[in-house]
Amino acid sequence: MLNYKNHQEKLEKIKSGEISLSENVKHFLKNIEANKKLNAFNFVFSEDALKDAELIETKIKSSSSCGKLAGMVIAIKDVLALKDKPLTCSSKILKDFVSLYNATAINKLKEQDAIIIGKTSCDEFAMGSSNENSAFGPVLNPVDPSRVPGGSSGGSAVAVASECCDAALGTDTGGSIRQPAAFCGVFGLKPTYGRVSRFGLTAFASSFDSIGPFTNNVEDASLILEVISGKDCLDSTSADIPVPDFQKLLDDVNLASGDYNGKPRIGIPKEYFGQGLNPEIRESIENLIGKLKTSGFEVKEISLPHTEYSIATYYILTTAEASSNLARYDGARYGYRSSESHNLKQMYTLSRSEGFGKEVKRRIMLGTYVLSAGYYDAYYKKAQKVRRLLKNDFDNAFSEVDLILTPTTPSTAFKIGEKSSDPLEMYLNDIYTTSANLAGIPGINIPIATSSEGLPIGLQLMANQFNETALLKMSYYIQKNLL
Ligand code: GLN
Repeated sequence: MLNYKNHQEKLEKIKSGEISLSENVKHFLKNIEANKKLNAFNFVFSEDALKDAELIETKIKSSSSCGKLAGMVIAIKDVLALKDKPLTCSSKILKDFVSLYNATAINKLKEQDAIIIGKTSCDEFAMGSSNENSAFGPVLNPVDPSRVPGGSSGGSAVAVASECCDAALGTDTGGSIRQPAAFCGVFGLKPTYGRVSRFGLTAFASSFDSIGPFTNNVEDASLILEVISGKDCLDSTSADIPVPDFQKLLDDVNLASGDYNGKPRIGIPKEYFGQGLNPEIRESIENLIGKLKTSGFEVKEISLPHTEYSIATYYILTTAEASSNLARYDGARYGYRSSESHNLKQMYTLSRSEGFGKEVKRRIMLGTYVLSAGYYDAYYKKAQKVRRLLKNDFDNAFSEVDLILTPTTPSTAFKIGEKSSDPLEMYLNDIYTTSANLAGIPGINIPIATSSEGLPIGLQLMANQFNETALLKMSYYIQKNLL
């Protein structure tokens, strides 16, 4: 057990000498070693982390100007560029690739004196919901190692849940932060599309991808979000919108009275509580809704009528974008090159056939199909229109309510191998998470309960674009008062 409840407390304890940062990093390294069988890490940077710990500890103790994340130990998903370190996306095709620069989000962590302890496993190119599609082998759930941790950012969720770091960065294209957070029992925040620069994030579906934190508490999620957010001239889709002091805003939640100024109105979309929702998850969510009502929150049923189209729309548009994004891996300039080829065409074909895993190939083929002449209008163009309808659903909902509350997943963590032979069954796991990415809005997983089998149950809150403030305040209220 860590002897601090959030980063603020850790920092104070380092300052007062109660915590040695080097010892703290050693503790995490020991846990990484002890949990090796969970396979959460692709790479561990023990030496760098210990060296940084010494430097940063001195900085914390000697000067008044240490960074906001000074001493926070963070693991990052292996789709994010970290200079001079491997960047594999858990794929054979990038097995020996070393990054030449830092992703903007990583630069920002480092500028604020965070310590990067390692790179975490994920589904290959972030495609999957179980972390079984990794060239480094599957990642196991720390709560029950016969089960998946969720995906695609499974390694990041496991790293936080098994106390191998203070926090981790993941990416969320259709649920890859929120779903593994739910399966592993930690907080997972997907920011608004454009809030965090995607520079240095290996593209899966560029109009969906977002970077966000996994943490043990809302305070740390708020702090990391504040640090990594903001306009970046290296990503034209990053938004030029002021970044609030998210952490400070949490103070508005008046904990003493169990109340806070400007209570949000909460909407419960009826489409998210249909058949297929695990009864224990339903019960836990309803329980929490009951508590919110008792605490005086206005909670009402709303409708997001196009929800049933979200999975189909998501899998048409993201595969289309992926087929284009992944065209760059051709064995010519970098990455894996087949040694069997005798001419250029064969080199492309063999390099891609041997380098990509099964799920990635499936998506490239699906995406190429929906973009091909003759099918473009029927699939890709139609799906773009449905994306707009889904966005309109949210716009209408947010004219009535400030937050939307749903389950994060229809089931608790499933068994390894249980869904891997049926892609459709796997895709259906994303039923509650893909809509937020289609609409570009923020969402968070809050671990609220455990099932009778001891498995974590997650609650999802969603807010309107760039309203992370309301999302984090409500999450903080729930963490403090209702869990
Ligand atoms: N599970 C979803 C998929 O397979 C989401 C992935 C993600 O968010 N990166 O596409």
